[in-house]
Amino acid sequence: MHLSEILNQLGENRDRYFNAVSPPVIQTSNFAFSELDDFRRAMSDELAAHLYTRGNNPTVHILRQKLAALEGAEDALVFGSGVAAVSAAILAQVRSGDHIVCVRSPYSWTKSLLMNYLPRFGVEHTFVDGTDLGQIEAAIRPNTRLLYLESPNSLTFELQDLEACARLAKRYGLVSCIDNSHCSPIFQQPIRSGIDLVVHSGTKYLNGHSDVVLGVLCGSREMVKRIFETEYMTLGAILPPHDAALVLRGLRTLPLRMERIDRSTRMIVERLERHPKVERLHYPLSPSSPQYELARRQMSGAGGLFSLELRADSPERMEAFFRRLQRFLLAVSWGGHESLVLPFVGFYGIPGRPAPELPWNFVRFYIGLEDPEWLWEDLQNALEIL
Ligand SMILES: *Cc1c(COP(=O)(O)O)cnc(C)c1O
Repeated sequence: MHLSEILNQLGENRDRYFNAVSPPVIQTSNFAFSELDDFRRAMSDELAAHLYTRGNNPTVHILRQKLAALEGAEDALVFGSGVAAVSAAILAQVRSGDHIVCVRSPYSWTKSLLMNYLPRFGVEHTFVDGTDLGQIEAAIRPNTRLLYLESPNSLTFELQDLEACARLAKRYGLVSCIDNSHCSPIFQQPIRSGIDLVVHSGTKYLNGHSDVVLGVLCGSREMVKRIFETEYMTLGAILPPHDAALVLRGLRTLPLRMERIDRSTRMIVERLERHPKVERLHYPLSPSSPQYELARRQMSGAGGLFSLELRADSPERMEAFFRRLQRFLLAVSWGGHESLVLPFVGFYGIPGRPAPELPWNFVRFYIGLEDPEWLWEDLQNALEIL
């Protein structure tokens, strides 16, 4: 299906709502029936019917159809956060006594789920270097059920070879799942590489305006139905209809935003690569990246994230650098319109925060929708203080 058809037509039965161009926000919890038989039918298939908004809401349903099509999946569910989608995808695969193989640096709260939460229910895990297929295979045990990937991750951008991982998972009878937030379906569609389940923090690029928190899970009709009937309906982390309408609006410009962000980021990264204050640059589509060939093969773009290790004499200098930046906001969540900077100096050991093991001169940037020359001016000016 053409991207334009997905974003402008799919799921939008406009003749059912006065030919309105924008879908209505069906702000209702409950749906009523005039026929007893219809009511009974809806009760027996809540995923397809409109019975109650914790199950299926028409505004949310339009969004689900578009997201599934964007990922080339048969069906999709949306959740009240990315973490809710990740948790549902993982919990659905395991029971007590099972084991998960997971890449070593997934999103921090995904890591926390595996390390701090699932052991309470007797579910074990092994973290592996996902850049090494041999390590992944060596970690698989008879009780392994799930291979969990994140390619690239959002700090150091390590990749996994998706086709090879999908083949490996099939060979050992594991479900494969990937967090695809970093690339968005515009730059990478893992289901086409044979991965079973794709999850997203839709908070990032999919909504793209920093005003909604949501999660997405895509997969086969059968897998999505099973997750709907278990984790989705029992844990209840739904996306409200009004938020779904905002995300539908955000999606209209997804390809435009991704293209702009990707282009601006490449421009800034190319300049930084030659900058004397940059000791090391982490960006998957830079020719100096150790996984450049793989990145080129499986990603058509890299989005707005990159990290730097800067040549700074001291942590104090790094702090001065952050204070000098005027046009990058100090904030965690990326994928919106606004460019960001995430410092690591002085951010270790905050209780309750899973701390990544990164040096103090490490910094992550996110390039948003602003004029890249305007951003470069600011960056260049701040680098001078180092
Ligand atoms: C932000 C993020 C999440 C969590 O999503 P929320 O919407 O904040 O719950 C999961 N994975 C990745 C890669 C993320 O960046």
